[in-house]
Amino acid sequence: MKKRLVQTIIVLAALAVILASILVVRAITTESLQPEVTSVDPLGVDDGAVQRLSEAIQIPTISPADYSPEELAPFEELHAFLEASYPRVHAELQREVVGPCSLLYTWPGKDEEARPAVLMSHLDVVPVSQQELPDWTHPPFSGAVADGFIWGRGALDVKVGVLGILEAAEALLEKGDAPQHTFYFAFGCDEEIGGSRGAKKVAELLQERDINPVYVLDEGLVITEGIMPGVDRPVALIGVAEKGFWTLTLTVRAEGGHSSMPPSKTAIGILAGAIHRVESSPMKPYLNEPARQMFESLAAEMPFGMRVVFANLWLFEPLLIAQLVGAPQTNASVRTTAAPTIFNAGTRENVLPQTAQARINFRVAPGQTIEDVEDYLRAVIDDDRVEISRSAGGFTSDPSPTSSIETAAFEHVRRTTREIFGEETIVIPGLMVGGTDSRWFTEIADDVYRFLPTQLSAEDTKRIHGVDERVSVENYHKIIRYYARLIISSEPQK
Ligand SMILES: [Zn+2]
Repeated sequence: MKKRLVQTIIVLAALAVILASILVVRAITTESLQPEVTSVDPLGVDDGAVQRLSEAIQIPTISPADYSPEELAPFEELHAFLEASYPRVHAELQREVVGPCSLLYTWPGKDEEARPAVLMSHLDVVPVSQQELPDWTHPPFSGAVADGFIWGRGALDVKVGVLGILEAAEALLEKGDAPQHTFYFAFGCDEEIGGSRGAKKVAELLQERDINPVYVLDEGLVITEGIMPGVDRPVALIGVAEKGFWTLTLTVRAEGGHSSMPPSKTAIGILAGAIHRVESSPMKPYLNEPARQMFESLAAEMPFGMRVVFANLWLFEPLLIAQLVGAPQTNASVRTTAAPTIFNAGTRENVLPQTAQARINFRVAPGQTIEDVEDYLRAVIDDDRVEISRSAGGFTSDPSPTSSIETAAFEHVRRTTREIFGEETIVIPGLMVGGTDSRWFTEIADDVYRFLPTQLSAEDTKRIHGVDERVSVENYHKIIRYYARLIISSEPQK
């Protein structure tokens, strides 16, 4: 009996040693994916660049809800401003107005046989809430240049991209440089309301012309510090996919009547119960492909203890997920989220409502579909009195495909980022929880990346769509240099 116990202990100890060895060996042999580069300064930035961005911010190109002449007037003004500000670009590139207000530039490359690339950004901005207006340090459409920043709506999202790309092109043309392959610049005018009359039309036009870009780079994730545990270097996240966007409507119908003799559950009570069940039983979290790629790419950059975890996700995945679901920001990257955003019922205090209706906005993680979401919703609500329907009209999109990180294009983006932002910057793939205009380009290109080459603090990130949106002059110069370097060193591919 005693002998058997000793044998069992020996076997268990041996297994523990083997397991520990596997974990440690995997951690030690995980290699950094970061390419070695030397810093590059492709061009000096023109002194007028800051002033031009400031002036562009002063044109209030708020997304056109109805595409009415009044709403489109600022876009025409911006088009004219760009034409006057970038004379070489407008002399040497082809410029087309697509749909009501979007722009497409074509810059022919030296090698006409090579596949083109597309750089994207958007011309429109979100409106400023009247309530928040007094909180702005500088008025939102002032384009104030103060304290080392350019202030105003669109400074980050994303006139900085439009103007940054055009500054880069203008400066390269002035030097007599041209890209090795053709570049398109696609600037939609209704990104903030879904892009269906902007970027979508541009993508359709390119498709009609049989254009199959080797890569597309749109706005998206940025460079931040302090968001990854155990990593004190700046981390650049390149969005290789974005979540889907679906809104489902819940409706409860009931008999009306006087509120003096109510049934045990009114329409409001039934619907509130359903919403409560949805919030208390969220969809199961899992490591979607972009999230897995992100952690695996980060493993080699982490201190040893963390590296053991990240290099062995086959074992530690449940532990990691338990950590990630603890905060809204990281929770959103590992599951389809549900947010009840609209709740309507009742008209009078003494009348029982005949209907109660709510809308739940879902952000669908890669690997799941709207059908999965509907199945989940029926199962968790489990109440025939609650009708579930897909909201008519409105914006919807499925999760995007996940772009490869094994391509020359991804490597080009990674290398350029380190060349401009320094070798301490770790460049890894990531998942965008919001949406971009690039969704319209996944039909014509396999490799679609979402990255705005700018370094932001967590505090500055909150200014996007919020109060006191601003970009630092230093960051803006880097954005211009980044696009210049990306364009000029992009190698032709057939
Ligand atoms: Zn944007």
